[in-house]
Amino acid sequence: MNQIVQVAVPRPVWQVYDYQIPKSDGKPVVGGRVRVPFGHSVAIGVVTSLQSKSEFASKLKTVDRVLDQRELLSPDLVRLAFWMANYYHYPIGLVIDTMLPTEALRGRKTNLVPQKRYSTEPHEEPPVFKNANRQAELWNLLESNKTLTDSELRELRVEKTVLSALLRKKLVRWEYVEKNYEYKPAEFNLSDEQRHAVDSITGRLDSFGVHVLDGVTGSGKTEVYIQAIRQVLEQGKQVLVLVPEISLTPQTSETFRSRFGNVAVLHSMKTNVQRFDVWCRIGSGEHRIVIGTRSAIFAPFKDLGLIVVDEEHDTSYKQDDSLRYSARDMAVVRANLLQIPCVLGSATPSLETLHNVDRKQYSLCKLSHRPGTAEMPRFNVLDIRGHTLEAGLSPILIAKIKEHLDAHAQVLILINRRGYARTLFCPDCGWKARCSDCEVNLTLHEFPRSELRCHHCERRYRVEESCPNCDSARVRSFGAATQRIEESIGSIFKEVPIYRVDSDSTRTSNKLERLFKALRTQTRCILVGTQMLAKGHHLPNVTLVAVVDADAGFLSSDFRAPERVAQLIVQVAGRAGRAERTGEVWIQSFDPFNPLLQALIRNGYDGFVESEQVERRMASMPPSTHLALLRAEGSNAEIQEKFLRDLLGEISSPHIEIFGPVPAPIERVAKRWRYQAAVISNSRTALHTALRTVEKTSPPQGQIRWSIDVDPSGIS
Ligand code: ADP
Ligand code: ZN
Ligand code: ZN
Repeated sequence: MNQIVQVAVPRPVWQVYDYQIPKSDGKPVVGGRVRVPFGHSVAIGVVTSLQSKSEFASKLKTVDRVLDQRELLSPDLVRLAFWMANYYHYPIGLVIDTMLPTEALRGRKTNLVPQKRYSTEPHEEPPVFKNANRQAELWNLLESNKTLTDSELRELRVEKTVLSALLRKKLVRWEYVEKNYEYKPAEFNLSDEQRHAVDSITGRLDSFGVHVLDGVTGSGKTEVYIQAIRQVLEQGKQVLVLVPEISLTPQTSETFRSRFGNVAVLHSMKTNVQRFDVWCRIGSGEHRIVIGTRSAIFAPFKDLGLIVVDEEHDTSYKQDDSLRYSARDMAVVRANLLQIPCVLGSATPSLETLHNVDRKQYSLCKLSHRPGTAEMPRFNVLDIRGHTLEAGLSPILIAKIKEHLDAHAQVLILINRRGYARTLFCPDCGWKARCSDCEVNLTLHEFPRSELRCHHCERRYRVEESCPNCDSARVRSFGAATQRIEESIGSIFKEVPIYRVDSDSTRTSNKLERLFKALRTQTRCILVGTQMLAKGHHLPNVTLVAVVDADAGFLSSDFRAPERVAQLIVQVAGRAGRAERTGEVWIQSFDPFNPLLQALIRNGYDGFVESEQVERRMASMPPSTHLALLRAEGSNAEIQEKFLRDLLGEISSPHIEIFGPVPAPIERVAKRWRYQAAVISNSRTALHTALRTVEKTSPPQGQIRWSIDVDPSGIS
């Protein structure tokens, strides 16, 4: 007879707590919420197990209220929570806090009235609406969307009375959403490579396996996902598709919607209440296909049968504060807990993933070419040593741009720095515009107004007319960024439309979407932008991709920077020349014989990976070793350093190597000094044992914030 529940309470605590089950008030279930007395107040927590006795029996408090009669977190998620607490060295209470939607923690009731979805009745001619504009509007909305659910109609603020009127007139019909999906076949046949990939993913749907789908951009990975998903749905199971950023790639969810009809989307743009509603309906099994960003990995599923991680290399899968988890890695862990397959897709798989392929932990499917006649662009390096650059562009590159524009094609210029110029400096005394709160140069912006901005703390400063140090009037800008290139390109190619795409110019995804749509029918134009251009859009009329500043990435002190820049270049290149026009890629470099750059040019991403793997092995860096970063920050540099030094003293062991403490690459941000240390080991176990000895250390009150980052996305 179970009389005790163990409860994970969403507070910074490292353990779960025992409580007595109340006599009345329903039975608590594992994964359901309970309200419990905690410290001097109450908390809403999640039941993690039921027990028959407790070692604290006599002193136990009793559960205040049982909030859920059925589970809210599925059993695999409860297990995943403990797994993460252990792996990321993070309090179990706060893991639960991260997993649950805000509304769940506030105690909101689950509302699971089955949803309906509505569509227009079959008709030959559209009906005529006399004096019923709102009915006409809704009818047209349904007609163009094919189907809309109760919650979608609520989001669109459609009034119930208008809907009822259409139902009464038998112009609209409904059915329950539950367990419904359609399937619309593709208009083409799968290639042999695609078929092979689908077969190997679906070969064993009832056991764990990770399938890496390594397919060049435009090779049709999406169709492989769709075919695999379809087979899982046919077995009555659910599917989770993780994507990096919904706002930048709305066409992914569009594609799935157009092929399967009903698809639930989980991302941070929704309100808390909407998120909670979708979340619960996933848990009840009502939604069969779920597309979501990072945190969707914590959605409860009734019967999950497949997880797909699209663009698995993308850094947005890693959360860089609080619980520093990788949603990609958690997808693999969760698939393992559930004994289901997991697909990791990318045109530029991460070195970690490829390492697991080499170790035979993951299996590999390659899509090596694009369907039809489309060819991959050719890579070239442009030696700019000794050239005079015009706003960062060499004369040869400008001539290339002209050549492509003359052929009525589109040109894409990639420069991964937003703003006007890298900074402002004085040629007479060497003064540079610096942020007074951070150890970084300020970026000059000219649009919408002239000002200096700190890209780390977002503080803004007036532009100095003369040098604040020596009063020289020759202060000038240095290092071109997007706005500067837009301006100078504009003065060279006066007749050609120029579009700038960076987070300053393109705040809304709609704007970006409209631009990309327009570009499909347009010829002759120039796109200048940051890595926002790398995200999954097809730009068939682009035939030239110019990369302005790749050197920064290849020469950076962060061991992951070369991988990131190679991925960026290959991804951007992949946007180009998808139709009958073959594209070319020109990379400007002051270091044209850099071995990594050369490997990329000669042998593409695979060639780069081979060289970079050697570099990483020689430097004893991941993926062949395991790395955690310890960070401390606070207002006093010495205290941070000493704190880290003491921590490291406690974890030293023969199986781990420690580098640090050293100042972080950006030593001070928003007035806080930052120190870090890298802890590296050949053995996962040794690394985690070492971290476990210090994980619970609390720093001197108020002066320090510190964290453990397991598998960090970089060392900056
Ligand atoms: P990826 O995600 O690998 O970059 P997509 O899945 O976006 O590529 O596919 C690129 C284009 O190729 C899409 O328009 C898709 O409809 C089309 N496509 C995919 N597979 C085939 C095929 N077997 N035959 C013809 N076209 C295909
Ligand atoms: Zn000066
Ligand atoms: Zn700053």
